[in-house]
Amino acid sequence: MKKVTVVGAGIIGLSVAYYLYKEGAQVTIIDRDPAGDKTSFGNAGSIAVMEVNPAAVPGVFWKVPGWMLDPLGPLSVRPSYALKLLPWLYRFYKAGKQKESLRIHRALSALNLRVYDDLLPMLEEARLTDKLHRNGALIVYESDAGFEADKPTWEMRKKAGVEMQYLSANEARTLEPALGERVRHAVFASQAAYVSDPKVIVDELRQWLTQQGVKVIQGEVQNLHVADHGVQQIKLTDGRVFSTDDVVIAAGVWSKSLAHLLGEKSCVESERGYNTTIQQSGITLSREVIFAERKFVVTPLSCGLRIGGAAEFGGIENKPNYKRSAVLTKLAKMYLPTLKNTEGIAWAGHRPSTPDSLPVISRSGLHQHVFYAFGHGHLGLTQSATTGRLIADLVFEKNANFDLSPYSISRFS
Ligand SMILES: Cc1cc2nc3c(=O)[nH]c(=O)nc-3n(C[C@H](O)[C@H](O)[C@H](O)COP(=O)(O)OP(=O)(O)OC[C@H]3O[C@@H](n4cnc5c(N)ncnc54)[C@H](O)[C@@H]3O)c2cc1C
Repeated sequence: MKKVTVVGAGIIGLSVAYYLYKEGAQVTIIDRDPAGDKTSFGNAGSIAVMEVNPAAVPGVFWKVPGWMLDPLGPLSVRPSYALKLLPWLYRFYKAGKQKESLRIHRALSALNLRVYDDLLPMLEEARLTDKLHRNGALIVYESDAGFEADKPTWEMRKKAGVEMQYLSANEARTLEPALGERVRHAVFASQAAYVSDPKVIVDELRQWLTQQGVKVIQGEVQNLHVADHGVQQIKLTDGRVFSTDDVVIAAGVWSKSLAHLLGEKSCVESERGYNTTIQQSGITLSREVIFAERKFVVTPLSCGLRIGGAAEFGGIENKPNYKRSAVLTKLAKMYLPTLKNTEGIAWAGHRPSTPDSLPVISRSGLHQHVFYAFGHGHLGLTQSATTGRLIADLVFEKNANFDLSPYSISRFS
């Protein structure tokens, strides 16, 4: 039986473990904090299949300096980190060229439009189907200009297979009566969904995998020794050493340094996001609402109303600035006038973001038995099961009939 070790117990590592287990592998997951407070636990819970356009659309690069001048705006760069971010920014700039942006749009569409084929079987087997709410998502606009500016991207999405419908403000308020008068236009994206609570999904999936015999080991990977035809060795910081046939690196934003240990170049940065979860909000929503111009989202999770957004580039070590979470709740109050409470649990997490908005789903370019599954940015929960399926196909050398070249790690070398 093939022994495969997955480094990382976030939603990506767990989904990879699920599909490897389904293929009959003997799977071990190693994580320094398997039940910890990581990115996969605190996200907005959206299955955002309609997000098939890259962050770097043509022209967006030139808006970045303006956003950066506002320290609590939707995007910011910590001054102490600005120089380190230059290589990422340069690639981001290149990804925003017309032709490149179209190529990325096609690659994102290919992943997102098959999401439910891979997600539903996994949720069903782990008895989590009742935690998925397929009610679509509502994307709202407060200005005619903002709505008109986004229309071409909606037309692009529609052409790619995203089901969407333009709504008037009143139609949007009929769907979600909590929305106030500020809303002027909306789009309904019917294929979107949300999960009751992303933490419940990862906790229950991990427990279910354990019940099926997948080993979950708590420990921090310090080094990896690979031999192309032999056994791989994984050394932990506490001195323990594990042997395995294949290794999958699925360690979110930390994957960059693990890939580096193996001599492999990658380009992934922490794009820190923030949210506040309010238990007694007084707001009832039936689906995720996305506030397009202000770049934040509100999701009605079972643990409370989660208001999240922001994109802060400051590396992994900088402390979070929770003023951002507070700013987001103030914004939400403008759109949801009956929000009766803006106090809640503030949280921040590292989105593992690549400059081209595409994840790395790839065999190593240097080592036959090493695989990578990271860099999912804003869409890790959405693309989790599909990533798991594709990595299992790679490990078991199955012909998946799916072009993996856009997601290859070799694009960074
Ligand atoms: C505010 C916010 C909102 C978001 N909303 C959504 C959303 O609505 N929908 C969506 O699809 N996505 C969303 N995302 C993105 C999504 O959460 C991430 O893309 C996803 O969680 C990444 O999962 P991961 O498993 O790759 O990484 P992580 O969840 O970060 O897991 C990586 C794991 O690797 C472990 N690890 C790292 N280094 C080592 C080591 N050396 N040894 C052992 N273990 C190690 C860590 O402990 C960690 O458990 C959001 C993100 C944020 C921040």
